[in-house]
Amino acid sequence: MAKPVLLTVDDDREVLRAIERDLRRKYGSDYRVLRAGSGPEALEIVRELKIRNNSIAVFLIDQRMPGMSGIDFLSHAITLFPDAKRVLLTAYADTDAAIAAINEAGINHYLLKPWDPPEENLYPVLDELLEDWEAAFPPQFEGIRVLGNRWSPVSHNIKDFLARNHVPYRWLDIETAASDSEVRSLAELLDEEDMRSLPVVILPNGERLRQPSLVDLAEHAGLRTRATEAFYDLAIVGGGPAGLAAAVYGASEGLRTVMIEREAPGGQAGMSSRIENYLGFPSGLTGADLARRAVVQARRFGVEIISAEATEVRIDGPYRLLKLANGAELSCHALLVATGVQWRKLDAPGVERLTGAGIYYGAAMTEAMLTRDEDVYVVGGANSAGQAAMYFSRYARRVVMLVRGSSLAASMSQYLINQLKATPNIQIEYNSSVVAAHGEDHLEAISIYCVETKETNKVPANSLFIMIGAAPNTDWLANIVERDELGFIYSGPHLTRDGKRPNGWKLDRDPGLLETNVPGIFVVGDVRHGSVKRVASGVGEGSVAISFVHQYLSKVV
Ligand SMILES: Cc1cc2nc3c(=O)[nH]c(=O)nc-3n(C[C@H](O)[C@H](O)[C@H](O)COP(=O)(O)OP(=O)(O)OC[C@H]3O[C@@H](n4cnc5c(N)ncnc54)[C@H](O)[C@@H]3O)c2cc1C
Repeated sequence: MAKPVLLTVDDDREVLRAIERDLRRKYGSDYRVLRAGSGPEALEIVRELKIRNNSIAVFLIDQRMPGMSGIDFLSHAITLFPDAKRVLLTAYADTDAAIAAINEAGINHYLLKPWDPPEENLYPVLDELLEDWEAAFPPQFEGIRVLGNRWSPVSHNIKDFLARNHVPYRWLDIETAASDSEVRSLAELLDEEDMRSLPVVILPNGERLRQPSLVDLAEHAGLRTRATEAFYDLAIVGGGPAGLAAAVYGASEGLRTVMIEREAPGGQAGMSSRIENYLGFPSGLTGADLARRAVVQARRFGVEIISAEATEVRIDGPYRLLKLANGAELSCHALLVATGVQWRKLDAPGVERLTGAGIYYGAAMTEAMLTRDEDVYVVGGANSAGQAAMYFSRYARRVVMLVRGSSLAASMSQYLINQLKATPNIQIEYNSSVVAAHGEDHLEAISIYCVETKETNKVPANSLFIMIGAAPNTDWLANIVERDELGFIYSGPHLTRDGKRPNGWKLDRDPGLLETNVPGIFVVGDVRHGSVKRVASGVGEGSVAISFVHQYLSKVV
């Protein structure tokens, strides 16, 4: 935590230095002592401290300063730090003015200059004031703050990225400036350019990032975006359950392991509000919790986790070279693809334009709190949609599930169907699909078509969460590994057709169970052709793949 500040202001340099010296000597280990030679200079410091969300414990201000008197300065400064204690430094002749100021500017104390010795004339006063201040003062939030508009897609992406990467942050909605003094004073302090470019991310050191890209944000939020080594035994692309399991097993068995994840470790599972069928967790656990635990475990074994997107693979003899979107490159002997699947897009007018502004893919848990007392629409009939509906039902007034089929039985686990039916504020509309989304700068209504009645109804809606299946995103590997017509990657037995090994395969063995048509490139989890799309199976495949990696590495030269 940044130390609270003692700010002293005096236009007499000698006096200023003396106060600073005395303050540092006694309070320097617990407080930061800052000084300014004039009121305007001090106001600049005060504004900057407010933007950084630092605290000021005490102002020690000279009353007689040219340009701006101590009282004038305080009347401005206390609007930003109303809890700070105020000490006015006066000459003997000013005492009447000082006494008057006690009422005007809420001065806690006035001190006559000079105060020597400080042990008698300065410290006892300050000790008492600091004791009071500490007792009443709530600790300030010192992490990243995001100031933006709820309906901005960029705001949503930033919040989602920080939350899923477990970076603590505070969301400040500009729309609440009238009722929230923190938002209001921040909005007043930021410059015009900042306010024109919302969302603005304010870092603990006061640096502002205007509408940052996720790569930029990752770099400033302390996430690693580049590999520390040029070469690894094992590189894993994708940090979902399958990639994380491979990372834990690989590193724990002595492989120099790097894992590259473009969004946040946890993958799809990280978005699950409650996983109830994972072995060993009888009352379920959230995907975020599972991801957090796995990341801690992986790091403990020395896995290097990089926040970046893999965009290209090249083969150079025994080396597999991986290019990242930020331009960095790394090489490895064994490469494991665990890139899972991404949400399929809903193709209806208005949906693309309003994505991030009321329309979200997946459960978007960062938005859940904001749906309090609203109607929420969830599109989809699989487990993910069911879990999302259960989750939102805790906040929203009503959750309407729009299911294309006439039943959930074929697509959803029975335990979840039972939970949905037992939740009074969840309504399930069968045979229904969203055919249009409406709204200027955010979602305001949706049109729902019912195949049974053949009618289309337009209903008001501010939140639409879409979970209509998923597809692999493997085009970047198209010229390297063999894929099926949907883009899922073939492995092991699927590669041997009519008793023939894959084209170009030169080894005198068949591709291993989780190996692709390129020796040393493995595939696990949802992205693998024929995989069972579950957390446990991804974890299983990720762990098992490491034994194939060992076998491969034992022969690689
Ligand atoms: C909302 C929801 C709820 C679910 N609930 C359950 C449940 O209760 N029980 C259950 O068993 N299963 C559940 N599932 C399914 C389960 O989450 C998936 O089967 C599992 O996450 C698949 O793991 P994976 O590691 O193969 O891929 P994913 O989880 O999809 O992870 C892949 C990761 O790779 C990253 N990535 C992709 N391309 C790149 C690239 N080029 N460079 C870098 N990184 C890349 C992605 O960002 C992603 O993080 C749920 C899924 C969802 C969406």
